[in-house]
Amino acid sequence: MIKADFHTHSVFSDGINEPEEIVTAAIGKGFTAIGISDHAYEPFDSWCMKKRDENRYREEIERLKRLYGNRIKVLCGIEADYYSEFDAYGYDYIIGSVHYIEAKGKIYSVDMSKEETEKNIAEGFCGDRYAYAERYFETVGKLREKTGARIIGHFDLLTKFEKQGLTFDEENVRYKTAYVKAIERTVKECIFEINTGGITRGYKERPYPSERIIKELVKHGGKCILSSDAHEKESIGGFFDEAEKFANKYGVRIINEI
Ligand SMILES: [Zn+2]
Ligand SMILES: [Zn+2]
Repeated sequence: MIKADFHTHSVFSDGINEPEEIVTAAIGKGFTAIGISDHAYEPFDSWCMKKRDENRYREEIERLKRLYGNRIKVLCGIEADYYSEFDAYGYDYIIGSVHYIEAKGKIYSVDMSKEETEKNIAEGFCGDRYAYAERYFETVGKLREKTGARIIGHFDLLTKFEKQGLTFDEENVRYKTAYVKAIERTVKECIFEINTGGITRGYKERPYPSERIIKELVKHGGKCILSSDAHEKESIGGFFDEAEKFANKYGVRIINEI
């Protein structure tokens, strides 16, 4: 099993554990590397990192590097949304993720609930589910330029509510064109997550992204990294065995180092 996880959240954003608890839990699980990647500041959301905490966050992880560096490689990451406002200085890596998209001059959340997403599609996209998907993947395609991300987080997060019936036909030509464009725009410079967070939280039967998207990534020479997106220390490395099998089935190149 891969023993490195670079997508975890602490009390600095919406996780429940201190960074130190995450590091010691990863050591306890026999991990060789752990990255903390709290949500970068975003003006319109309440669960991201506060502006005033940014320095303290970087300092705390530097302290953990010194304290535990002989037992585990500790990295200071950040998960930046397309609309995050943050200073990229001092981070070992950036995960670029889309949690919000813009339509008609308004910002809409992608991952709050099925009901809210349906309301957003009706209001922002005149009920056109594929216009919503097009805007989502267009925003994903711009993540690298906007945030400097090295890793693309949960590539098809918009499928979060598929078990609840909010589905997209991946063979729909508009949907497919949109995700292929997002891959083409980022594949040279970025690594793509195989993110198990949705399985841990009971939303998904499979990791992000889907099998069809994984196949497309392989066709484009894409590389992947396994991520738990853990919000509590128990979930570090969660479902990595399954994710690795999923990746191997499609011949994905897994890079679990930074
Ligand atoms: Zn995220
Ligand atoms: Zn996350």
